[in-house]
Amino acid sequence: MNSSKSPCVLLTGGAGYVGSHTIIPLIESGYEVVVLDNLSNACKGDEGQKPVPITKVEEIVGKQVTFYNVDLLDYNSVAQIFDKHDISCVIHFAGLKAVGESCVIPLTYYRVNVSGSINLFEIMKAHNVKKLVFSSSSTVYGEPKFLPITESHSVGQNLLNGYAKSKYYIEGILQDLCNSDKEWNVIILRYFNPVGAHPSGQLGEDPTGIPNNLMPFVAQVAVGNRPCLKVFGNDYDTIDGTGVRDYLHIMDLADGHVSAVKKIETNSVNGAVAINLGTGNGFSVLQVIETFSQVSGRKIPYEIVGRRQGDCASSYCDASLAKSFLGWEAKKTLKEMCEDTWKWQSMYPKGFSTAK
Ligand code: UDP
Repeated sequence: MNSSKSPCVLLTGGAGYVGSHTIIPLIESGYEVVVLDNLSNACKGDEGQKPVPITKVEEIVGKQVTFYNVDLLDYNSVAQIFDKHDISCVIHFAGLKAVGESCVIPLTYYRVNVSGSINLFEIMKAHNVKKLVFSSSSTVYGEPKFLPITESHSVGQNLLNGYAKSKYYIEGILQDLCNSDKEWNVIILRYFNPVGAHPSGQLGEDPTGIPNNLMPFVAQVAVGNRPCLKVFGNDYDTIDGTGVRDYLHIMDLADGHVSAVKKIETNSVNGAVAINLGTGNGFSVLQVIETFSQVSGRKIPYEIVGRRQGDCASSYCDASLAKSFLGWEAKKTLKEMCEDTWKWQSMYPKGFSTAK
């Protein structure tokens, strides 16, 4: 970085899975980092301590991280953070993300995700901070009409749950905001399937309750927390009949955010640009099980059950825009994703609560 003072990046939801991992390469790249999180889905620390994932990040990077336990719906408290710090750019991770739950309590999802985002954007505007990286999802594409999925694929059609719709609505709000004021620079990152953990094994994904996603479930079966994995369908039109997804190592995803921040900091985006973050490769459920079993040396019992509602056969991205626009591409293999997940899961079999 050329300037004498490092730009300050605010991470909303920075104690969560993607946010906490992203702090590491941001700090390693020389950015100042401020984190806010309401800890609704993160492991709290002991009385007076920072949340456990933040403490782990501090140990990994050897630096203190400024942390605020603040809810985005609390306008005044968020505004105070902007008053206090000279924030240059925001990465907005905060939001609820359980697909199934979003069908049960949709209003909560819209209030937290959509209203929370509007609050944030209003506060940013009031403080003349108009550089934003938004954490979106490949789920905005709905059932893929073609593969690999490019950014020009339609979005918002036949979305089956409130989570996907909330991401789609926020993307739309950002497009409108950028149309109304040309000073905004916004990068919307559409993640495919983030998995894995920091290679130290000290930081990883710690889902509350029964994991919805494949990789944490496989890891919990491998470590003996759960007896058997249910494979949702083996009659899809794929290599072995099971669902195919574009799994992406969390540290590659974290680096993708740093590339996006670097781009945003040049002030050259002028508007809102959506970019896929994935490897561009698809792997089936059985391939994931096989690779995980190899790297862990554990048998992973599984049974084939019916398809899960709302699942598609295959989803993987065209990652070429990320390369040309951000200069970013995923580097880590499925084997590394499984190895690092296993390292984390075997060191912390009960997640962060093991660490307390
Ligand atoms: N899957 C599975 N059993 C599980 C969880 C997921 O067979 O317990 C399958 C799912 O049907 C899909 C793939 O694993 O084909 C990835 O699912 P995940 O929920 O991780 O990601 P998403 O469906 O959101 O892409």
